[in-house]
Amino acid sequence: MSRIAVIDYDKCNPDKCGHFLCERVCPVNRMGGEAIIIDEENYRPIIQEASCTGCGICVHKCPFGAITIVNLPEQLDEDCVHRYGINAFVLYRLPVVKDGMVVGILGPNGTGKTTAVKILSGQLIPNLCGDNEEWDNVIKTFRGNELQNYFERLKNGEIKPVVKPQYVDLIPKAVKGKVRDLLKRADESGRLDEVARELELENILDRDIRQLSGGELQRVAIAAALLRDAHFYFFDEPSSYLDIRQRLRIAKTIRKLADSGKAVLTVEHDLAILDYMSDIIHVVYGKPGAYGIFSQPKSTRNGINEFLRGYLRDENVRFRPFEISFTKKSERKSQEGEILVQYPSLVKEYENGSFRLEAEGGELYVGEVVGIVGPNGIGKTTFVKMLAGVEKPTEGEVDWSLTVSYKPQYIKTDYEGTVFDLLSKIDAAKLMSNFYKTELLNPLGIPELYDRQVNELSGGELQRVAITACLLRDADLYLLDEPSAHLDVEQRLAVSKAIRSLMAKNEKTALIVEHDVMMVDYLSDRLIVFEGEPGKHGRALPPMGMRDGMNRFLANIGITFRRDPDTGRPRANKEGSVKDREQKEMGEYYYT
Ligand code: ADP
Ligand code: ADP
Ligand code: SF4
Ligand code: SF4
Repeated sequence: MSRIAVIDYDKCNPDKCGHFLCERVCPVNRMGGEAIIIDEENYRPIIQEASCTGCGICVHKCPFGAITIVNLPEQLDEDCVHRYGINAFVLYRLPVVKDGMVVGILGPNGTGKTTAVKILSGQLIPNLCGDNEEWDNVIKTFRGNELQNYFERLKNGEIKPVVKPQYVDLIPKAVKGKVRDLLKRADESGRLDEVARELELENILDRDIRQLSGGELQRVAIAAALLRDAHFYFFDEPSSYLDIRQRLRIAKTIRKLADSGKAVLTVEHDLAILDYMSDIIHVVYGKPGAYGIFSQPKSTRNGINEFLRGYLRDENVRFRPFEISFTKKSERKSQEGEILVQYPSLVKEYENGSFRLEAEGGELYVGEVVGIVGPNGIGKTTFVKMLAGVEKPTEGEVDWSLTVSYKPQYIKTDYEGTVFDLLSKIDAAKLMSNFYKTELLNPLGIPELYDRQVNELSGGELQRVAITACLLRDADLYLLDEPSAHLDVEQRLAVSKAIRSLMAKNEKTALIVEHDVMMVDYLSDRLIVFEGEPGKHGRALPPMGMRDGMNRFLANIGITFRRDPDTGRPRANKEGSVKDREQKEMGEYYYT
């Protein structure tokens, strides 16, 4: 085995641990050795991996959890691709890049996916975990590997990479002007009209970029990447903020790009979409922030199944102690308990008459989680605002007073202060309570973020903090709009579990707007389905059971899902396939 020691210097605080506690407790140091030395200049500890015995004492003693020590198989050493520095993150192996293929990447945040893409797009020459600064050495190291030829072309400037960034919300800060002008600048392939049509951007071409919603920004960013004439395309989380129909559309468009001979790499956490889009996938595993390992390429189906099981068969590696399973929850017993609110039919028409929503009356029960599904722009937010008494219905009356805690789809970051400040202002007592620690804070990894500045968090970190803030408030009704955005699969499941258990144990009710089918299934007791024509008129059906709700929702989009026989996870059927036709005939779109 070989040993790596990683210190998260953002967490390390030698003054608050009683002055380099790790150095004082280390048995090697106590015997006169030097497993831990102090870097006086930067005022921080350094662990010398060659002298460290891996006893783990410093890991347990450090009050800030700043140290990770792992033993990895020695043969991995030769696959070490990049290390950011001493005691820094280590990346092992890289994904393949193949002309004519969509290669999907599946794994937790913080395990080196972006690092790999920086290398493959030529922005970062990997140091091969030493002091390498030359592409020639990289080419030598990858001799005999599928990537050798790729790196040769990259070195010779023959590869032009294009990257669709993860955080599309940041685009308006970097680019100004009209959508059309932005896309014209990107249009090296002369396909602006075609791509705009495919991604349904025609109506927003003359809008200012600052006025776009997240879903619109996402599609503009994807369009800008597609329009470039390049060799290697990378799409980082292309599904965030899109509804399911739009997700499938962009998945098809990305597939088409590969069919035309281009090499495509994509990171995607919506498993149904990743499955639909990819030819092969790599699972990335490791410890976020410490190390990441790319698996061998796998068939999409096997790769996703192995990821869910937490066990890679070819590699004989168990990377998670538990399986993620999709047991048949199709007919969750609708709660017939205490009614939170019985709402009458409501109509909302905006003053300029541009949009009309008709919502049929229904009831919400205490302790349940109701999924809200339907396209973007169909009136989901409008409906919930009426229930909350924020928006006055045009017809029908809201005469109750429910308190509502709301997490919007797009989260603003202008808060000045730490995560702990922000959350303790909402409810300091809950932060200290064992109940909230077990049910919410620990599963979402919030204590690790306490000392961080809110405005410096990544999109995924901010999402977890916003969800926590929403759930810490006292309210009758919790409304969370797209809680899965920017979260990896494990985080999505942790959030789903936390919401379910808090609602059940605190006897509250949650409405969750969600587009990731797997998460909708995992999370919801019942569904409210919205249909109609986005931006023009919408209709909300009364809450219904999961089977009826999913059938109604998916019939509107015309897509059916089958169950993977091994893991029970939902897989989208190819349109017109035997299964697709059979299921449509039976009216069973989801729970077969
Ligand atoms: P992912 O894309 O899977 O979320 P990244 O490749 O962005 O992961 O980052 C993996 C880890 O590498 C991060 O946890 C971060 O701590 C570390 N890292 C990224 N960039 C740097 C850098 N320039 N210097 C030191 N560490 C870095
Ligand atoms: P969803 O939550 O399903 O995406 P919304 O309820 O936010 O949909 O919006 C539905 C439609 O109503 C959209 O076309 C939106 O532009 C329009 N709309 C929302 N709020 C207003 C408002 N205050 N005035 C006029 N139109 C609005
Ligand atoms: Fe103290 Fe932990 Fe930093 Fe060591 S790693 S100096 S124990 S805070
Ligand atoms: Fe010292 Fe043990 Fe920590 Fe290694 S793991 S640095 S030997 S305390």
